[in-house]
Order: sequence, then C-alpha cells, then structure tokens
Amino acid sequence: MPAESSQQEAAKPVTRLRDWLDHLAARERLAVARRGLSLVHEIAAVANRLDGRKATVFPNPGGHAVPVVSGLISDRGWMAEAMGVPPAQLLRRFQDAAATPLPWREVSAAPVQEVVHRPVDLARLLPIPTHNEHDSGPYITAGLLISRNPRSGVQNVTIHRLQLNAPDRLGVLLLPRHTLAYLHMAEEMGQDLEVAIVVGIDPLTLLASQAIAPLDADELEIAGALHGAALPVVQCVTNAVRVPAEAEIVIEGRILRDTREEEGPFGEFPQYYGERAKRHVVQVDAVTTRRRPIFHTIVGGGLEHLLLGGIPREATLLTHLQRSFPGVTDVHLGRGGVMRYHLTVQMRKRSEGEAKNVILGAFGGHYDIKQVVVVDEDVDIHDPNEVEWAVATRFQADRDLLVIPGAQGSRLDPSTEDGFGAKMGLDATRPLNAPEMRFKRISVPGQIAIRLQDVLDPVAGTAWREALGSEA
Ligand code: MN
Repeated sequence: MPAESSQQEAAKPVTRLRDWLDHLAARERLAVARRGLSLVHEIAAVANRLDGRKATVFPNPGGHAVPVVSGLISDRGWMAEAMGVPPAQLLRRFQDAAATPLPWREVSAAPVQEVVHRPVDLARLLPIPTHNEHDSGPYITAGLLISRNPRSGVQNVTIHRLQLNAPDRLGVLLLPRHTLAYLHMAEEMGQDLEVAIVVGIDPLTLLASQAIAPLDADELEIAGALHGAALPVVQCVTNAVRVPAEAEIVIEGRILRDTREEEGPFGEFPQYYGERAKRHVVQVDAVTTRRRPIFHTIVGGGLEHLLLGGIPREATLLTHLQRSFPGVTDVHLGRGGVMRYHLTVQMRKRSEGEAKNVILGAFGGHYDIKQVVVVDEDVDIHDPNEVEWAVATRFQADRDLLVIPGAQGSRLDPSTEDGFGAKMGLDATRPLNAPEMRFKRISVPGQIAIRLQDVLDPVAGTAWREALGSEA
C-alpha cells in the first residue's frame, strides 16, 4: 500500500519548497537539528556529514528566528521524484522541458510578499551562514539571481555566489554569461541592472535555473514546463523583475554600474577555493518574505551543489551528442569529476572509429569537459566499477587514447594554467569485427530472475550444521 501511494504521489511534479520538505520527511530523509546551531561552520559541518543521505532543517540558527534548510537534493533519484518520473527518465524529462518551455503567468498578490522590509539589514533579517574554513565570511549560496534584458524585458535566471559586503550590499561573482551580458547593456544605457535574488524555492525551479540555455531564454519558463503548469510570478516591490510567487524570500536590488568591491575567497564546486578579487556589487533596496520564511543554503562541493549543475549539463550534452550520433544512448558526469570535468558516454557503435568522433563531439559540447570515456551499451555508466572494468578489458592506450593538448578548460581546475590545459579521450568500446566469444560477458542463466526467498531456507542459516543432515 505505501509503495503504491508513494508512486501516485511521485507522478505529480513538486512545485513548492514546503511540499518537497513534506515529501522528504515522509521518507525519513529530513533531519532536524537542535535549535541554535552556529551559522559559522556548524551548519555546513552537519550538512556535509549528511550529504547524500538526508536534507537538514536548522531551527533558530545562531539564535535567528528564520530557519535554514540544506541538502534538498542528495541523489539524482530524488530529483526524478520531484519531477514525478522514474530515474531512467530524468534526463529525457529535462530535455523535453528545455525544448518546450512554458511561459509564466503573472499574479497580483503573492505569499512571498506577505512581509516587506525596507530599509534592509541583511544579517539581521536573514540567517546567512559561513561554510568553509577560508571563506571570506557569510555567503548566500542558493539564491536564484533574476535579471531583465534592459531593452526587451526578457528575464534570465541563474545562481551566483553572493558575499555579504555590508548591511545592504552583496558582492557577486559574474562569469562571462547572461547576467553579465544584461549588465553590459544596462551600462551602455547609463543604468544599473535591476535584479531579484530568490531564496527558498522548489527543487525543479532550482534545477531549471542551471539549464544551459541560450541568451534570452527565460529559465523560469523551463521551470514551468517541469512543473507541468505555468509558474505564478509577481512583480517586485521596488523594480520590474518578476519573481516566483511561491518562493520564501526575495532580495530586491540593483547590480551597480561601474562598481567593484573585494570578494572571496570562497569554497567552490571543485572542492577548492575561488580566489579573492574585485567583483561586482548588488545594492539591496528591499527584502520581501512569507510570514514565516525558510532560508535555503547550498554547501559548496556537496552533492546538492554538484547535482544541480550536473543534471542539466548531462541533458544538454546528451541532446548535443545525439544530434550527430544517434547511437549514443546515455551520458554521465561522475562525482569524482565534480560532475563537470569527466564524462562517460554509452553508445551502440555502428562503425569503427565512431567512438573517437563521439569523444571529439563531447569536447565541443562544453569547454569544462576534460576527460571522456566511451563504452558500449552493455556497460552501466552510473557504476564507476563497470566503467573501470570496460577500460580494463576493452581499452589499449597506444590505440584507444586521444590526447588534445593546449585546449580551453575550466578556470576553476587548478591543474590548468588559468583554464588552458589538455583533453583526454578513452575509447573503451569493443572492436566491431572481434570474434563473437572474445568480448562476450560471462553470465549465469536465471541469475536475475531467481527469487531468493523461493530457494533459500529461512531458518537453517543459524544452524548450518544441522541443515547438512545427520550424515555430517
Ligand atoms: Mn540564461
């Protein structure tokens, strides 16, 4: 009965953070900390210890009235549950949503604006934690930063790390992507860039924010497609940005034109620190919240952080590869490769050499990709032991290894020279013309189908000598 009802529940996408916490709690995946743990390191320590197993709610962190939650997604199966699909359909569901976005619908009153704070003292209003040993101080790490194309009004959604610089000012790292493109447009018009930072949102909207979409593709429309319903949004109190109505907290403000302040260091996804430098600044104009809001924090380098980035990347890389190579059946970004650098591709090879073309295609799919392993369709790419077995038994370095020197890679990979580095590809597929038995995997007939309860004696295990009979 419980299995049946949970399946029915799982068939409906989760659209609110509070519903997701209920979902986790009902499955014993939500720990509740003692009241009053410290915002400095203690929340991150507990979240990291439970990483991959449980989300955690922290009541009264540092004596603060607003609770903190962390670890919303610890496993890719959880994200499939949030979508309401079986785990095997996770990437397909995201591919479909990215291909068919659903425009949002505007509402005039929203839970996230039940309380309006201005002027603003961020540290007093919100429990902003400090995570890693050498972090410069408190950071907002799970804030969706929403900005508008200042010419067209089209919105962009992404996550930037946000350092607390002053009671009403945040330092922000802008990589050369969409938010920065909109800021440059605003600066050309002599303006600041209006933004909203949304904290406390459902897992599917978080995931949609990480879609690798083109400029002027609104990630909130991908969130709507994942929800299966247009996302309700409301206009900010102090600017024109539209924010999800069901969120917990919204920080309204502006990225200041031509302004920089020191930001960093900060513990990043590769499990190293991002360096300190002069970075952009958000001037905060107001904070709006639900009556009793929840603050979400993501600890850098944990599974929640890696999966939110990794799943949309996998979906995008799969779409990219399948355009040229229909034999590609699945891709996987492994945890050891920080779900960005090391890609495994599963394929049904049709012609000799095709796996090497797939390797080259994968490097073209995203500059972060540093190592690609291609395996046949009989290898489970979600099991690192299976992939290692394929390399151990189907790969010869002098024949199947591809090294591309001097290419662009990730700047956060400390083994590169500021992102300048090498690529490595391993073709671990069987040759098509091999004799049939040479690469035939051993298997025992009936092993998978056999029901152990039908063939094992339930009581004899503890008395194995008696089970052998009187002759023994
Ligand atoms: Mn974007």
